[in-house]
Amino acid sequence: MIIKKGDNVVVLKGKDKGKKGKVERVFPDAGKALVAGINVVTKHQKPKQGVKQVGRLTKSMPMNAANLALFCDKCGKHVRVGYKILANGDKTRVCKKCGDII
Ligand SMILES: [Zn+2]
Repeated sequence: MIIKKGDNVVVLKGKDKGKKGKVERVFPDAGKALVAGINVVTKHQKPKQGVKQVGRLTKSMPMNAANLALFCDKCGKHVRVGYKILANGDKTRVCKKCGDII
């Protein structure tokens, strides 16, 4: 998976298309990512023992990482990602458009 925790991403498909958010968690096995404020579902929590918050709760659900793209601040839009090997041997992701490290 290209997407990592802490990345700024844009939603390419679905009800949140065009929205931006920050990746809070990735699920590499499932190919999913949890993005703050994206793919929000409303849950109606009925009062029951041990539950403090009742009523309408909103929660972000993990979504298919294939429908997300990395956002490049320099380009101001979502971009394709390339890889670059740094002098110290580390592999890093770069914006294919401007060459900046993402
Ligand atoms: Zn760029």
